[in-house]
Amino acid sequence: MKRTRLMTRTALALAALILAAGALTAQTPPDKFLGHKVGEDRKLADYTQIKAYFEKLAQESNKIKLFTIGESVQKRPMIMAAISAPENLAKLDRWKEITRKLRDPRVTPVDEARKLAKEGKAIVLITCSLHATEIAASQMSMELAYDLVTGKTDFDAGKTLADVIVLLVPSHNPDGNQMVVDWYRKYVGTQYEGGGMPWLYHVYAGHDNNRDWYMFNLPETRAVTKVLYHDWLPQIHVDEHQQGSNGARLFVPPFMDPPLPNIQPSVWRGVNLVGTEMSYDLQKHGMSGVVNGRSYTAWWIGACDDTSWLHNVIGILSEAASVRVASPIYIEPNELQTGYHEKRMDYVDPWPGGWWRLRDLVDYELVLSKSMIKTAGLHKEDLLFNFYQMNKNSVEKVDKGQPYAFVIPAVQRDYPTMLRMLEVLKMGGVEIHQAKADFIAGGRFYNAGSFVVRTAQPYKTFAWSLLEKQKYPDMRQYPGGPPVPPYDNAAWTLPLQMGVLCDEVEEAFEVKLEKIDAVPYPKVPAQGKGAYFVLDARVNASYAMAIALLKDGAEVWRTKARAALKGHDLQAGCFIVKNGDAVKKALPALAAKLNLAVLDVDDVSALAKDPVKFPRIGLFQSWRGNMDEGWTRFVFDDMGIPYKTLHNADIKGAKDQKVDLRADYDVIVFADENANTIKGVRPGAGTPAAAESPMARMFRQSPMPPEYDGGIGQEGVDALKTFVEKGGRLVALNGASEFAITEFGAPARNALTGIDRAKFFCPTSLLRILVDNETPIGYGMPKQAAAMFVNSLALDTFSPSFEWDRKVVAAYPEDEILMSGWLLGEEYLARKAAIVDTKWKDGRIILIGIRCQSRAQAHGTYKFLLNALLYPGM
Ligand SMILES: [Zn+2]
Repeated sequence: MKRTRLMTRTALALAALILAAGALTAQTPPDKFLGHKVGEDRKLADYTQIKAYFEKLAQESNKIKLFTIGESVQKRPMIMAAISAPENLAKLDRWKEITRKLRDPRVTPVDEARKLAKEGKAIVLITCSLHATEIAASQMSMELAYDLVTGKTDFDAGKTLADVIVLLVPSHNPDGNQMVVDWYRKYVGTQYEGGGMPWLYHVYAGHDNNRDWYMFNLPETRAVTKVLYHDWLPQIHVDEHQQGSNGARLFVPPFMDPPLPNIQPSVWRGVNLVGTEMSYDLQKHGMSGVVNGRSYTAWWIGACDDTSWLHNVIGILSEAASVRVASPIYIEPNELQTGYHEKRMDYVDPWPGGWWRLRDLVDYELVLSKSMIKTAGLHKEDLLFNFYQMNKNSVEKVDKGQPYAFVIPAVQRDYPTMLRMLEVLKMGGVEIHQAKADFIAGGRFYNAGSFVVRTAQPYKTFAWSLLEKQKYPDMRQYPGGPPVPPYDNAAWTLPLQMGVLCDEVEEAFEVKLEKIDAVPYPKVPAQGKGAYFVLDARVNASYAMAIALLKDGAEVWRTKARAALKGHDLQAGCFIVKNGDAVKKALPALAAKLNLAVLDVDDVSALAKDPVKFPRIGLFQSWRGNMDEGWTRFVFDDMGIPYKTLHNADIKGAKDQKVDLRADYDVIVFADENANTIKGVRPGAGTPAAAESPMARMFRQSPMPPEYDGGIGQEGVDALKTFVEKGGRLVALNGASEFAITEFGAPARNALTGIDRAKFFCPTSLLRILVDNETPIGYGMPKQAAAMFVNSLALDTFSPSFEWDRKVVAAYPEDEILMSGWLLGEEYLARKAAIVDTKWKDGRIILIGIRCQSRAQAHGTYKFLLNALLYPGM
């Protein structure tokens, strides 16, 4: 009996154990959910499936909680999982409160910080597949989540998750993930399998969605930025990418020289610690081909992981070697790039070549992700306290070259654009103050209402780096030899890009300040009481309003010269709007939306003016996923400018069917694109474009389905010629100017063609241009401006034949051309034209040889494009 009773009790206990175990093992593995192994050849999960899997796992496990952090451009919800011990997930507000306290040493004394570091949990963030074709991480994320909640780790997952909260964003580009998977599935098993898509994998930005992390133009960027610097404040952030196929299997930090000097040394110590631990763990798993310290510099701030450094976060980039989306590739050993075939100290275990599959990437990424989580667990208290310490340095320590503050004067040429810059700073977590009285700083007088960004603040590095002028070090391959190009931009100085006045002040000054919680939008006064009103040509929002009103049929003119009116000094190009009934109705809402004040007048007869018409705009979109076209579209949508997208067939027409572009369009815009690509002359497989990434080359060399092949062809060029002859305006942005010059014979040539890199080199920097603001394309601009030079042109113009005329709108000065970044061979630019307005027959071809709307950041030079749209008198 006794024995039986005992047995019964044991059986009961056993049953309870089995039940408990049953609850633990009830989680569905991703393989079972998807019906294929994660990373299996030619098999992909799309965003809908990934999201559904995370939702299922969150229902089945108490170690994972799901959040919606934002919405993509195409309105897909962006999800983020928080994975940790159930007790931690129940108290998330407390852990967030602790990191917020550790961010601000001004309210948290050291003793309390030590206690909080002991009590708190390390928060780490993993973001996957921002670049949608770099798809492995998005697939891996499901297995990572499953392994963490079920304890399939080399380390004691339960113990680690008691100290660490893992935030996992399976895709921070859900639209792109869906597009790439749809495209891949459509062509798998055909000759187009694994090839490039004919459109961008982010609706506006494509690959440039990783160039947006200090400007926050895109909703996806803002969603993750909110997690990083507003809500959760993780101490480690890993952003997982892919690189070309023929080098290392994987890059993890340390990063390469040069470092941006403003970033704290402790950031790099942390980055190196986590990166080295990753390499060590990968080696333990026999994963060869891991490289450190090459290719990826520690300078630039536009990328997702990089902007973390500027917020005292350990930002890690991983770059795994790509396959053809999900199709395996075979690499012959002799196809490996130089430097990746033998042992080096930064590449101690070369990958020998052979087959390389999506599952290999998944395996590498699983190990590196888990390694980071393990490291966070091991160093939990240190991580939290060092986060505090770095923020303390930001608030207290004065670094070499650190100014006291930046002052943004209340008097600006374009006030609404200045407000927009303040929004960008706020999004980046920057503290801004507003002066309550007039003051003097750095020997200059400033009005009350001016804004002050003091550098002593937790996110000092971000504020300082964004507002200062960059000085890129002169790095050469050998003394006197060719330059070592930076990774992407050498400069980004936001006030220069946006045309906002902002002064760096070295020394402390006295001023009565008030911290602003939100950007203070001035109340737009009651206006529109006159027979007419004037819109200031210097303000970008004026152009948006003019277009909106023209669309409703308003009568609009532009002034032809500088004029004084009611005590205002009007620059040439101001808009005069007749205040009719429709205008009166539309004005209040528009003015409020655009934060725009207008100048009411009753009599405009004394003003010299030309009428301006509503522009019917066509924007060319090649089938090559041109990012600059995407950004141009973004600018148009952002400003409410209507346009139609033109593809090859819309320009060249179908067989035996001539297109009359002039009947439908007034302006056709070509974004920055190679002339051969526009026309459809395919560069040969052996002639890569300058600075082409190995992945871009792989896609370029793969065939395109016939409906997306080629360009506008000679028929398209002929149609465009007829369009201009009949009074149309063709706008060629940056590289597209070469197309206009070659195909139309516009009276200019690019003086930089064929010049050796060792003699002339300017890696995306801000250069000074002198503007003629009395000519239509220069209207509203200051006489001097900062132009984004991105593989740009220096134009030699010449006296043309009788059919042509030309007007130089902007040119480089004699010297002191560099404003921010790096420029070698200034003399090659001296006195060359940057922007030329040419006239051909009844139409115009406008050559804008700079990136005037660069990544929707260069608000300060938007007007060159806007003026081309609103050209008066045509
Ligand atoms: Zn990438």
